[in-house]
Amino acid sequence: MASLHKTRSVEDGQPIEADVLVVGGGPSAAWAALSAAEAGAKVVLADKGYHGTSGATAPSNTGTWCVPPGEGRAASVEQRWKRTAGLADKRWMLRCADRAYENLLKLAEWGYPFPSEDDGALYIANLRGPDYMRFMRRRVQQAGVQILDHHPILELLGDDRRVGGAAGLSRRSGANFRVAAGAVVLATGGCAFFERILGGTGLTGDGYLLAAEAGAALSGMEFTGKYTLAPHGSSLNKGLPFRWATFYRENGEPLRDARGEPVTNGIGGGERSIAEALLSGPVYARLDLAEPAMQDWLRRGQPNCFLPYDRLGIDPFRDLFRVDLKYEGTVRGTGGIRLTSSECATGVSGLYAAGDAASRENVTGGISGGGAINASWAIASGWWAGQGAAAHARRYRDHDSSWLRPLGATGLRGTGRDAGIDLGAAAKAVHAEIAPLGKSYWRSAAGLEASSARLDALWKRLNNALPATGAERLRAREVAAVTASARWTVTAALARTESRGVHRRRDYPQEQDAQAARIIVSGLDRVTATREQPVLDAAQEGY
Ligand SMILES: Cc1cc2nc3c(=O)[nH]c(=O)nc-3n(C[C@H](O)[C@H](O)[C@H](O)COP(=O)(O)OP(=O)(O)OC[C@H]3O[C@@H](n4cnc5c(N)ncnc54)[C@H](O)[C@@H]3O)c2cc1C
Repeated sequence: MASLHKTRSVEDGQPIEADVLVVGGGPSAAWAALSAAEAGAKVVLADKGYHGTSGATAPSNTGTWCVPPGEGRAASVEQRWKRTAGLADKRWMLRCADRAYENLLKLAEWGYPFPSEDDGALYIANLRGPDYMRFMRRRVQQAGVQILDHHPILELLGDDRRVGGAAGLSRRSGANFRVAAGAVVLATGGCAFFERILGGTGLTGDGYLLAAEAGAALSGMEFTGKYTLAPHGSSLNKGLPFRWATFYRENGEPLRDARGEPVTNGIGGGERSIAEALLSGPVYARLDLAEPAMQDWLRRGQPNCFLPYDRLGIDPFRDLFRVDLKYEGTVRGTGGIRLTSSECATGVSGLYAAGDAASRENVTGGISGGGAINASWAIASGWWAGQGAAAHARRYRDHDSSWLRPLGATGLRGTGRDAGIDLGAAAKAVHAEIAPLGKSYWRSAAGLEASSARLDALWKRLNNALPATGAERLRAREVAAVTASARWTVTAALARTESRGVHRRRDYPQEQDAQAARIIVSGLDRVTATREQPVLDAAQEGY
């Protein structure tokens, strides 16, 4: 029965029962909640922010990978696969295109206001983030899902074989809460490593830490070298307008590439030259290659992109303005929780992952999936994970929750050997190891090893610090999750002794055929890396 739950805080210590707990509030969480509810499960969705405005999609204009069925689909997969640095899996790509398309049609059926094309057909390939997520929230409410806004999950509950729920904190009341669930879907988004990017505030890789503490592994964490241009000092990492930009040095000289040609297209061929130039000084841009009709199209399509310019009194099509490359980590990079089945299982019984929380190598390989694939992946993987979790809960739901024990450690249960830790300083320290262009746009063994040593030391300090208490536990867990994510990134980046996709090594500049395999990292205090071929299962055989 449809119910419209109001946002509310739970009482301190209140236990909640569910078949499926979805952790997160972006598109992948919404689709997971809807598919689990459609499969008959009682679903609870717990979001760190407000479901409908939190996460990377909500403030953005989102292009999807929208390919109708027919011969064109195989051709589209073929064409995209060639750009995935050899690591995507065409069967996963086909089923992603298939599921995302079906669900975009569902959105149209449910009344999502897609614009019409000249011939009257609905244009379903693009979603305006704020409208889309508001619409999804309503749909999730109508499906009878219990939404817990501003209720971050701090740790999973279970034992060393399986997961059976999670515990968290109400940010409004400070109350603790526990959800006992037959299965849990992690849809916590990617890790922006404390870089200020659109929608990135709560994206601290929490799902990676939760999964690893339960025994899951991560994959593709070396493909985090993704940056996007933004006006200097802003958090506006919307790259599209820079396709029509020209670039300059501080003295007004045009920026030139290695062949001496003026640099254009900052989201394509020009990006490397801009990154190189930024290492030695400021870079300026002007969007002067956009004709008036294109200027109008850009302004209408991405109105929020132009607000910072308007505020500063800059006409970006006429005036020069300073730019930065913003680090995006796994938000538009690729790595995340390793998936072990077509239902987005994680290898830990009862635990599923979707969207940016999961590795997207199956569909994007070693390159960024931003701009189309990630949005479709969030839809498709959310749907599969919700179904998988509901089926798992049906089979194994255990109404006795006495076996559940907390699985969280760092930030929650420090040894207290040392005094407290300055979490603000720790956040800055980990950002400094990973976000600078010289650390993640270009990597080298020496730099990675030095970062690894400093991050290991920080991890030890976090573990030895006095445990955080009350509301500070959330910040402590975020710092722990980002530090762990940085350590997995550095370990994977050291293991891949070649350049491939968005992983660029100065000391190994070439791609090497022998290294066309996934790098899996696991472990918390001791992090290890292994290689494996893409994981396939019977459900993919039909594709
Ligand atoms: C500026 C920008 C533009 C983009 N444009 C495109 C595009 O055009 N096309 C495209 O394909 N992709 C695009 N992307 C990528 C796309 O936005 C993401 O792939 C997509 O949002 C992923 O959805 P998600 O649900 O997995 O994560 P998100 O939308 O990031 O949501 C994560 C959710 O998890 C919640 N959360 C985090 N930790 C916890 C916790 N501990 N407990 C509870 N909840 C938690 C957060 O509050 C949030 O609700 C863009 C990204 C950015 C930053």
